[in-house]
Amino acid sequence: MAKYIFVTGGVTSSLGKGIIAASLAKLLQARGLRVTIQKLDPYINVDPGTLNPYEHGECFVTEDGAETDLDLGHYERFLNIFTSQANNVTTGRIYQTVINKERKGDYLGKTVQVIPHITDEIKRRMLLLGKEGNYDVVITEIGGTVGDIESLPFIEAVRQLQWELPEEDCVVVHLTLIPYLRAAKELKTKPTQHSVKMLSQEGVHPDIIVCRTEKPLTYELRRKIAQFCNVKTEAVIEAADAPTIYEVPLLMQRERLDWICLKKLGLQNVKEPDLQHWRAFLDKLKYPKSSVTIGLIGKYVELQDAYKSILESFVHAGSVNECKVNVVNVHSEHITYENAHEKLGHLDGLLVAPGFGLRGIDGKIVAIQYAREVGLPFFGICLGMQMAVIEYARNVLNIKNAHSTEMDPNTPDPVIDMMEEQKKITNLGGTMRLGSYPCDIKEGSLAHQIYGAANITERHRHRWEFNSKYTTAFEEAGLVLSGINPETGLVEIIELPKHPFFIGVQFHPELKSTVENPAPLFVHFIKAARCFNEKKSQMKPAQVLHA
Ligand code: GLN
Repeated sequence: MAKYIFVTGGVTSSLGKGIIAASLAKLLQARGLRVTIQKLDPYINVDPGTLNPYEHGECFVTEDGAETDLDLGHYERFLNIFTSQANNVTTGRIYQTVINKERKGDYLGKTVQVIPHITDEIKRRMLLLGKEGNYDVVITEIGGTVGDIESLPFIEAVRQLQWELPEEDCVVVHLTLIPYLRAAKELKTKPTQHSVKMLSQEGVHPDIIVCRTEKPLTYELRRKIAQFCNVKTEAVIEAADAPTIYEVPLLMQRERLDWICLKKLGLQNVKEPDLQHWRAFLDKLKYPKSSVTIGLIGKYVELQDAYKSILESFVHAGSVNECKVNVVNVHSEHITYENAHEKLGHLDGLLVAPGFGLRGIDGKIVAIQYAREVGLPFFGICLGMQMAVIEYARNVLNIKNAHSTEMDPNTPDPVIDMMEEQKKITNLGGTMRLGSYPCDIKEGSLAHQIYGAANITERHRHRWEFNSKYTTAFEEAGLVLSGINPETGLVEIIELPKHPFFIGVQFHPELKSTVENPAPLFVHFIKAARCFNEKKSQMKPAQVLHA
């Protein structure tokens, strides 16, 4: 029988509930428990795949092709496990299930209502992963903030489970904010008191209060929170701001968050956490021996959350290389062939990000041309690879109007074209080529050397592809199509042999990078950037352009 931990949030959003939940999961996993973690989101979209990154940050794709909340990325990166569709459920999906059942006649004769039908479906999802029998602990993070109208059915489901489950099988952790008032030089507990009161009014009593705070909590303050919120003083946990999210599991260990959960769950007999690998990773991250500057070109560069998995993959790859990776945002709209060196000359590597639509395309193509010509390490992901193909077609194959039909549906030379099976699709939600697909890698290629394998699998999220009609033309002009899907023949990896690192991938390697298993392509990209940086520092400025 699995035990259940629910994590709710109060006072404000963006308190890092996902990181706290993932850190707790990490500590329990490091104690030898089998742990999984899921996110229940109260919004009405069936999944976040149709949400703009400005609204909701990155859309994280799982092995089974589910488009999910970016917190699932944190869960995978911390725990080194694969999540799936079952790990992310929204109000939209809950209603879709209930309405489909109603149409089938499953509730025949009954009025279908929020309570019990919607709450029953939420409870079924909350217990689902635990019922499969593979886990000791299932952590469920409830999205949104307590008090929101839309989160009410979720909180009601937690209330019912808190009552239905044996006392020692359920823990509720509530995350709040303790603001510091600079003028009064004081930490304030009132918002936390109100938030816990609101949760109690909805019938849920938290066992543990985790307090996000800029300043340390004194014992008196902890006692005060404990007294007003009706929990033990030891169950008031300080969650101080950390220099990196990867430090949070250690902070939570120091605060004994895992121990207090285990005590409530009657699991005191488990071993101490083994965090040796985690600490080694952190040490290398905190004390780098070199540094590189990587330019990130994308549509949403000013928004940290839009490229979460890419940024985290750089952290993992930086640690392996004992190298600090400074990621700088590059706005492609302003790049021209004339100013390319001025805009990109300070970089040690260029990453052209995934994306959709026309904005900034010309600048991206120029930036790729610059990287190709000067030997600047280049890494293109999904749209980034497609742009590299267009650049090569235009400037090396001399096909001046080469384009993708995504941006120019009437191009005479669609070197990137929509996949055949995509042409019949009209619905936008969940209909791209999604999830894990195999890829065969050519022996002797850079990709083969990097992966150390001839067969790999990586995750996808796209509608367009390399147009195989142009295969021979590209190959004759020196572009190596080094990764191919064995079943469909789709081109998955392109590279340039004479360049120190010029790789484009149709898939998203960033989605599989974890602390324990950093994505090989990112590790080697940073390695190449380090070499480029060293080479550059030994050159006179005029030489750099022709490195
Ligand atoms: N817009 C491109 C496509 O659909 C690339 C998608 C992406 O970068 N994820 O193929």
